Amino acid sequence: MSENKIEATGKGRANPPATRDLKLLRTAAKRCRACHLYRCGTQTVFGEGPKAAPLFVVGEQPGDHEDLSGRPFVGPAGRLFDQLLTEAGVDRARVYVTNAVKHFKWKRAGKKRLHQKPDAGEIKACHPWLESELAAVKPGVILCLGATAARSVLGKTVGVGSSRGRGVEALGRVVFVTWHPSSVLRSPDAETRARLRRELRTDIKRAWRRADRASSPR
Ligand code: URA
Repeated sequence: MSENKIEATGKGRANPPATRDLKLLRTAAKRCRACHLYRCGTQTVFGEGPKAAPLFVVGEQPGDHEDLSGRPFVGPAGRLFDQLLTEAGVDRARVYVTNAVKHFKWKRAGKKRLHQKPDAGEIKACHPWLESELAAVKPGVILCLGATAARSVLGKTVGVGSSRGRGVEALGRVVFVTWHPSSVLRSPDAETRARLRRELRTDIKRAWRRADRASSPR
């Protein structure tokens, strides 16, 4: 696919190449200009993990660390997530991790780059990349971390607190919604932090059990 093809979309919807090769998709996504966020982030942060991962995890968007390194979930939220995967007994090597939006949206505050929540148009523009990743990985289970991921996957606004804990069918898969690790880190008091952390770990475990079961030969 030519670079122009992606440049020319610019209509608020990404136009990934018709391939299930994650390497080719990642390379194509580097040139995405479907929304204005390519001017905001340093680079596209594509998903990572094995093809055929039974569990597919979706976050919101890359943060400051991810934007600079080009890899998803490597900052503080990613470290907490990794810790919880270990505590939940998840085999990290069998998890694909990506984001609903693949560029970092931020605004300057002094020397800091402050995270800005992606809007509905930005989520929609990026959705074709998520669809391509899903088509390539073919997971049995999707775990949405936070409301932006849930919105992208389920196509509607859902409250995380009221939807977590049970799997629903969407995009031909079982979808679980849970807290974003950043919500745990940002919670105002120790008691809330401990509760959200516990709930996130429980939800990860639940999604993993379902994914592992779905992928086991019968
Ligand atoms: N938060 C996200 O949603 N995704 C990342 O990759 C990092 C932090």
